[in-house]
Amino acid sequence: MSEKKNYGFTTTILHGDRQKTIEHGSLHKPVHTSVAFGYTDARQLASVFQGREPGFRYGRQGNPTVSALEEKVNKMEGGVATLCFATGMGAIGAVFQALLRAGDHVVSSSFLFGNTNSLWQTVAGQGVGVDFVDATDIANVAAALKDNTRIVFVETIANPRTQIADLRRIGELCAEKGILYIVDNTMTTPYLFRPKAVGAGLVVNALTKSIAGHGIALGGSLTDTGAYDWSRYPNIFENYKKAAPSMWGITQIRAKGLRDFGASLGPEAAHHIAVGAETLALRMERTCANAKALAEMLEADPRVAAVHYPGLPSHPQHRIAGELFKSYGSLFSFELKDGIDCFDYLNRLKIAIPASNLGDTRTLVIPVAHTIFYEMGAERRASMGIAESLIRVSVGIEDTADLVDDFKSALDA
Ligand SMILES: *Cc1c(COP(=O)(O)O)cnc(C)c1O
Repeated sequence: MSEKKNYGFTTTILHGDRQKTIEHGSLHKPVHTSVAFGYTDARQLASVFQGREPGFRYGRQGNPTVSALEEKVNKMEGGVATLCFATGMGAIGAVFQALLRAGDHVVSSSFLFGNTNSLWQTVAGQGVGVDFVDATDIANVAAALKDNTRIVFVETIANPRTQIADLRRIGELCAEKGILYIVDNTMTTPYLFRPKAVGAGLVVNALTKSIAGHGIALGGSLTDTGAYDWSRYPNIFENYKKAAPSMWGITQIRAKGLRDFGASLGPEAAHHIAVGAETLALRMERTCANAKALAEMLEADPRVAAVHYPGLPSHPQHRIAGELFKSYGSLFSFELKDGIDCFDYLNRLKIAIPASNLGDTRTLVIPVAHTIFYEMGAERRASMGIAESLIRVSVGIEDTADLVDDFKSALDA
């Protein structure tokens, strides 16, 4: 496959790794299980260690199978470089381990994946100031910035209430102030949206979710989009400033985040994720269409109190979502009217499965307040707009009519 032509999203993912010859003409990058990599010339080993030539040394820092996946994700995001991690949380954790020091300040969206929210609480206990703001309004983000603010962190479509941060204007504000802008793109995936387009310097993807799609492997990634000027970032060690500034951030994250903390992606998981990623675009088309059909049916039903889905004109950020994203996503949440018990409702569903993953090919449902948002308590749930009866739906690729019938029949019963 030639490097020159501007191929489409799926062609690029399928054929991108053939720009280098794959061993024995294998159509899939092989699963390299070796932890260490040997050299016939000891000087070459030293040269690889010193970063003077590319190569693999020890599995925690890199592996050929993982590296092929990194290239695929990098192409999807249009990045300068991508690193993979054992999980999405491993990727987010590495940002904080590698880039923040005591006395720094972070502004984060208050509408966050629950474990990221929990991670921020940990970071806050270690001398980094964290302010949570409603990032759907740029004024809140601007008001929270301080002289020592290093990072603004938001998600695209928040899970589970689907609020959408004012992504473009936050990007402009960060660019003006020289602040690193990090966007967790898990809910949209690079098929629906590239955060690089709104100035994000680093992009997080939980590969576990829609990119893999099958729910059989955990993984995460960080992509440097090239949009951030690392010479403006104060916490880069002199050691990692040898290459061009565009590589400083990713070099420090690889050493201080991935190598030192060790949340490395295994080659078997990388292989599973790479195979799943081949059908990302096809699955997203189907899951987004299914989500829209379900959300519209539920919103029209008098027994449903509220439906939160960016594809509905009633959603507060419907217009922004339409401008920024190719489609409105495969996740929505809804609240039943008083008198319908959410557990009884879920138990009546015949296709959708009560489970906590998302981005799977199967439709998964979960009572949010009683599970993934249970630990934080009722007060913080209320402040995040999480109703006690809220049901999150991660929509799969099942046939549309079957899904609509399943969710409707469970109301009728
Ligand atoms: C699931 C998820 C993560 C964490 O990914 P894991 O692979 O489960 O660690 C991070 N951010 C978002 C938005 C997620 O949905």
